[in-house]
Amino acid sequence: MGYAVLEKSDHSPVTVADYGSQALICRMLREAFPGDSIVAEEDAAALREPSQRRTAAMVLRHIRDVRKAASLLDALQWIDFGQGHPDKSRFWTLDPIDGTKGFLRGQQYAIALALIEDGEVRTAALACPNLGAGLMLGAERGKGAWCQALHGDGAQQRIRASATKEITQARICESVEAGHSAHGDAHRLAQHLGIGAEASVRLDSQAKYAVVARGEADIYLRLPTRPGYQERIWDHAAGSLILAEARGVVTDIYGNALDFSKGRTLVHNKGVVATNGWLHAAVVKAIADLGIGT
Ligand code: AMP
Ligand code: MG
Repeated sequence: MGYAVLEKSDHSPVTVADYGSQALICRMLREAFPGDSIVAEEDAAALREPSQRRTAAMVLRHIRDVRKAASLLDALQWIDFGQGHPDKSRFWTLDPIDGTKGFLRGQQYAIALALIEDGEVRTAALACPNLGAGLMLGAERGKGAWCQALHGDGAQQRIRASATKEITQARICESVEAGHSAHGDAHRLAQHLGIGAEASVRLDSQAKYAVVARGEADIYLRLPTRPGYQERIWDHAAGSLILAEARGVVTDIYGNALDFSKGRTLVHNKGVVATNGWLHAAVVKAIADLGIGT
């Protein structure tokens, strides 16, 4: 399948699918929770440019597969429902296609939605269409995390992070994109901990949180590639609650809790370390010992 790709100001790609997904999910949220604001990754500014008329028409065509009566103005407005402010005591955060590069390669990507109340992630939904036959994961704070087949009978299973306690046995996952997580530092860290290079897998998107939450990997590393980058809340809100509710632990590289109370980015945090819990202290200590992120 071919997808029209636009380039955003930060040179990252955005596709017709990102826009369509955001429009439909924001429309649904607005219907169900008219008073809530939504903080989503995309906005419709580029699609309003006369030069992007064809892309906008493509977005609309996909939206009409679901909402037959939608007009172009509706579509643009629904996308921009996602431009809400994160300073409210209650808001949703959405990554309509997380891992767009993986999506374009036909590999892993995710649709990630979370509800944030008083700076804490309360509820999360994460769809990973290319994980196995397609998986939907969910969590509610204090109530656990579950998983179900995207195309199945709807049966839900509780999920739990692994019980791996021996660090040398750990399986690590990280970004495919070297620009999103420092591969060299992850390699040094694994060597320092006595973890073999064959125990690392690379996959795009919050599917990394999903595999750790399901016990299929033990550690997710997101090590800073450059000073000053602030992680986006929609890249972590859903995945981090799902893993925490699966009895894992999620912090930044210094071992500090992720702080979702400061707007669109995790300004008080640097990088992310997510583990099954048992291995967390060892990983954070090794990062400090090696001076990663300093
Ligand atoms: P992943 O699929 O795990 O590689 O992460 C994809 C996400 O990385 C995108 O949604 C971006 O918001 C985010 N991103 C972009 N630049 C950086 C960066 N320099 N460091 C960390 N994450 C980034
Ligand atoms: Mg993303």
